Amino acid sequence: MKIGIIGTGYVGLPSGVGFAELGHDVVCIDAIKQKIDDLNSGKITLYEDGLEELFNKNRLAGKIKFTTSMKEGVEGADVVIIAVGTPPHPVTKEADMKYIHAAAKELAQYITGYTVVADKSTVPVGTGDDVEKIIREVNPNADFDVVSLPEFLREGFAVHDFFNPDRIIVGANTERARKVIEDLYKPFGDKANMVYVNRKSSETIKYASNAFLAMKIHYINEMANFCEKAGADVYEVAKGMGLDTRIGPKFLNPGPGYGGSCFPKDTNAMAVMARKYGVEMSLIETTIRQNDARKFDMAEKILKATNGKNIAVLGLAFKGGTDDCRQSPAMEIVNALLEKGAQIKAYDPKAMTVAKTLVGDKIEYANDAYDAVQGADAVAILTEWTCFKDLDLSKLKANMKSPVMVDLRNTFSKEQAESAGFKFTGIGR
Ligand code: NAD
Repeated sequence: MKIGIIGTGYVGLPSGVGFAELGHDVVCIDAIKQKIDDLNSGKITLYEDGLEELFNKNRLAGKIKFTTSMKEGVEGADVVIIAVGTPPHPVTKEADMKYIHAAAKELAQYITGYTVVADKSTVPVGTGDDVEKIIREVNPNADFDVVSLPEFLREGFAVHDFFNPDRIIVGANTERARKVIEDLYKPFGDKANMVYVNRKSSETIKYASNAFLAMKIHYINEMANFCEKAGADVYEVAKGMGLDTRIGPKFLNPGPGYGGSCFPKDTNAMAVMARKYGVEMSLIETTIRQNDARKFDMAEKILKATNGKNIAVLGLAFKGGTDDCRQSPAMEIVNALLEKGAQIKAYDPKAMTVAKTLVGDKIEYANDAYDAVQGADAVAILTEWTCFKDLDLSKLKANMKSPVMVDLRNTFSKEQAESAGFKFTGIGR
């Protein structure tokens, strides 16, 4: 099949590479020329575990192409996937639909033959109807269907998740469109676990899932606060809870609060949608408010642990395995620390370049973790990079002015840190 993908970001690029690997002919389209030039010259534009190898393999085999031309990507395509951003509106916090609407208008002009327009971006319920209307207005003779095909990949595991989806939700209102999407995923065989629902249900499933996961994180963070006061250990509590199959062990890791490009934006968008329909969603509203406040509480926690203001920060990405810093709790804690007058030297294995575009020279950037802690009054671990687990704690301590560690990611146990001579503050115990 020929597939056009509009938007070559954290969703579009891994999906494009994945579909090419499945044997489809993929054209990835992006409005940013520099991005397309880089990709065409073999330079990958984002970090995802295992992506670069598959990207090069399929690019060199001619199975995936990159262009700024909508015409090239859409003409003759069986499926056109929309994977552009739906960022939060700065004031209303609802999903900003300008990229979706612009993409729909543009792609409409180049539809030739029956085409399924599949929306992978996370969009408010009813967007499928809007996209359909826009395409119809621009190109009244176009033969097309619009389906909702929400994306559930986890950043940092995008390649793994593409090839091992829990489920593929397809919101299709016609049998014809459904059949095309079935063919798209045919190479998966039985592994695909396709779930066909109506388009609005599909759009809702994405928000309902993300809001639920965000609430689960918030729940265990509140339990962590409780455990700290009550003398329990939140990790033991989470383990005991997670063994109940009705609860499950995932998303029960306490930390500095959820972040990234999806949960904050999607919980806010869900709350706005519910308010519009006059439906009370108090759990989601509370989760948003408390999660926002948690970043400031975490900055306080770090400053309370030390008498000094020279803080070494380990981790800037919103989670391990990615260079994405969008609404990263680590970045928000860094900003809160700066506001309190702290001086920061930071290290992240992958996200330094991206972080520089966000905080510039307000902080210092280290070459590695040992460099970051040189002369520091405290070290704060803010992202769960697995490589931090391998740090030599004695060497780390030797470089510091005072051996204070605040570990917001359960990288080390209290015993490990204390036996290396650190004064240790963790979460939830
Ligand atoms: P992104 O910002 O990384 O990528 C979007 C890309 O679209 C950009 O490169 C931008 O230049 C391009 N673009 C915008 N308008 C365009 C147009 N008219 N023509 C061509 N290109 C255009 O965004 P992302 O993180 O990949 O997210 C995309 C969507 O997928 C969002 O709705 C997001 O909520 C959803 N989503 C993201 C993730 C994730 O892990 N990042 C997971 C699931 C769903």
